Amino acid sequence: MHILVINAGSSSLKYQFFNMDNHEVLAKGICERIGFGGHMRHQVAGKVAYEADIELPDHSVAVENVLKQLTDSSYGVISDMGMVDAVGHRVLHGGAKFSGSMVINDDVIAAIEECIPLGPLHNPANLMGIRACQQVMPNVPQVAVFDTAFHQSMPEQSYMYAIPYEYYEQYGIRKYGFHGTSHRYVSARCAEMFGKPAEELKIITCHLGNGSSVAAVKNGKCYDTSMGLTPLDGLVMGTRSGSIDPAVVGVISERTGKSASEVVDILNKKSGLLAISGISGDYRDVSAADEAGDHRAHIAREMLFQSIKRTIGGYAAEMGGVDALVFTAGIGENNDYLRQRVADGLEFMGIAVDPAKNAGRGEDRDISAEGARVRTFVISTDEELMIAMDTEELTK
Ligand code: ADP
Repeated sequence: MHILVINAGSSSLKYQFFNMDNHEVLAKGICERIGFGGHMRHQVAGKVAYEADIELPDHSVAVENVLKQLTDSSYGVISDMGMVDAVGHRVLHGGAKFSGSMVINDDVIAAIEECIPLGPLHNPANLMGIRACQQVMPNVPQVAVFDTAFHQSMPEQSYMYAIPYEYYEQYGIRKYGFHGTSHRYVSARCAEMFGKPAEELKIITCHLGNGSSVAAVKNGKCYDTSMGLTPLDGLVMGTRSGSIDPAVVGVISERTGKSASEVVDILNKKSGLLAISGISGDYRDVSAADEAGDHRAHIAREMLFQSIKRTIGGYAAEMGGVDALVFTAGIGENNDYLRQRVADGLEFMGIAVDPAKNAGRGEDRDISAEGARVRTFVISTDEELMIAMDTEELTK
């Protein structure tokens, strides 16, 4: 079976094309500047990449170009577009409607539309990707995989906000959580590596990238997670503040004359590591500056480490213990210093990493110190593969 995985943004469309017999990525790429000109990059393993400025007036034309490259005589990997068996779409917000992936039909599209107020930037873009594929490949089944779905198992005490109840009832204001596909993938892989069913484990998964979140996965189900109604809550991130006193929004708004939504935009795009370091929202740049002696970069990193530790401690308390800790995504998979610093001081709760195992690179592994009560793992996340696997499961 061949599956195309699509991650559509407002002016971009990322894709990966899988052979599900061996889970191999046959091709991947991105269409950018859709509606503002257009640029496409298409890569096939072992071949020179195709890259060109091409006219991309809308997402349908972008999808047509993806299919054109997949079937191209020099850059392609299949002989005709009939070999695309199904399409899996990443969808940001499924609200409280979806606790799993869904084959797309009119009802699912209507429900994704209803969730637009909860994901105003992403859901419309995800819908454009879905509609474009329906237009170009009307007979190919399509599946929606939601970033929020895994977190739908949270109990009420985890997902409710202690604010007037009518906001929950009328507007669905509650915690939803994100990166669900990643937390689901790495927690399942962790249970496999641990050698016990997920149903018998308490796992804390740390997805640390540009956007970062932690999930408490108890007996195979999400029990709590650090992102909220939107991805702004929780850890210090590249450009997001993470949790702060919500009154800060009102005070900044009064002092600067900016509207609440302008302040929230600053909390999303101009805060986090970028704001504290004054240098960059990219963890590598902040690390380099910290190591070169920059004080603000140092505080930025210390704040990040502390926000991760605080969340791990809190989730272990909520679950009544922890058996395994997982680090994943750009920072979590690649930075041994961060993993060491997060683990330092958590010996009291059974967490300790072995410096030699921690220093290794590349493969999924157990980095726990000998005799540590909690096992710590580094696991590469693969959201696209998880989307492809769900799509295969629901359409085969
Ligand atoms: P996204 O949330 O956009 O998917 P990623 O998971 O790709 O992000 O993570 C991006 C972050 O990972 C950046 O802050 C980057 O600095 C960091 N990162 C990537 N590679 C490394 C590395 N080798 N060492 C440390 N940090 C890294």
